[in-house]
Amino acid sequence: MESIASNLEAIREQINSACIEAGRDPASVRLIAVSKTKPAELVREAFDAGQVEFGESYVQEFLEKFEDPQLENIPVDWHFIGHLQSNKIRSIIGKVSLIHGIDKFSTAEELSKRAVQHNLQADYLLEVNTSGEASKYGMSPNDVLSEAESLFFLPNITIRGLMTIASYDRVAAREEFRQLRMLLESLQKIAPDPSKLTELSMGMSGDFEEAIYEGATMIRVGSAIFGWR
Ligand SMILES: *Cc1c(COP(=O)(O)O)cnc(C)c1O
Repeated sequence: MESIASNLEAIREQINSACIEAGRDPASVRLIAVSKTKPAELVREAFDAGQVEFGESYVQEFLEKFEDPQLENIPVDWHFIGHLQSNKIRSIIGKVSLIHGIDKFSTAEELSKRAVQHNLQADYLLEVNTSGEASKYGMSPNDVLSEAESLFFLPNITIRGLMTIASYDRVAAREEFRQLRMLLESLQKIAPDPSKLTELSMGMSGDFEEAIYEGATMIRVGSAIFGWR
């Protein structure tokens, strides 16, 4: 198996090429290394190879890594990318820089309530179901538009953009990424401060190049860095 360092280097090269092809600045795409199911030791290895942002999907597993001595004293920037139930918010608030998967108004409300309680500000992305697959989490694009007004005014939390998990098929995925970008553009038109609403978290190991062509600002890559799960 290739080493994590060489995998990371290969992915950074692919990001650069995709950006050149799309006429984008490579600095406009952030790589989130998805370390779910992988031990803290491998997070450390990736960090030592220059990777700072990591994504976790399961609350319990995240908390164990968050407290792992191997990651102590290094400034890992954690993102929560999994499905988040309301009752788990209090265990992760303040520990992650961005929550990618808020998929209900009631979860955003709970996040807001906890942020007020802890006297902090929390950033999040709304998860959108762009494929229409029933097995996937996320709000429908129409619900996003109709609930946006109320979401913008929840205290102590800021919606920074949108996230999606696309269809397995790359051609379909690209169309879904395009839809997500257009939905973000529509939201920006009604946002009180559009300069804060700029993130598109889309693209994984199998489709991040398509996501970059369609404007991804964050790609979430797991198996191409850490190997199969
Ligand atoms: C697991 C996961 C990823 C990474 O998937 P890979 O195909 O391994 O790159 C990205 N996003 C989410 C939400 C995930 O759960």
